[in-house]
Amino acid sequence: MSIFKKKKKENQIARLWKIKKRTLDFILESAKSTFPNEFGGFLRVDQYKKDTINEIVIIPGTISGDSHAIFKFHMLPIDFSIVGTVHSHPSISFYPSDADIFLFRKYGKIHMIVAYPFTYNSWKAYDFNGNEIEIKVL
Ligand code: ZN
Repeated sequence: MSIFKKKKKENQIARLWKIKKRTLDFILESAKSTFPNEFGGFLRVDQYKKDTINEIVIIPGTISGDSHAIFKFHMLPIDFSIVGTVHSHPSISFYPSDADIFLFRKYGKIHMIVAYPFTYNSWKAYDFNGNEIEIKVL
């Protein structure tokens, strides 16, 4: 069995991801204030509720153009509470690009994309393979 298949199987037993409303608000506000540049960060879960995203680790520096240059994984501390990434699109598309999927496969289990105009209806979450997954807002 290939690693790829194994990963998919693990994914089928997917937990229901959750995000705190204040954390989502923070993401949307950050994306808004960074616009027209892109905003990027890492998603961190609660120490005790490991399926609940409750913090964003911001990547310092302003991003424009290729958003993926900002995800410097080697600069990340070893931190098992980080479960994935979030970044904004200055366009109205919240669908992952090929480059996004390449990024998703590199690191993490859950990835959020927030698109212009950065409202509750303009974001989506994806697994490592770019399949849409649900996050419940708490
Ligand atoms: Zn993207």
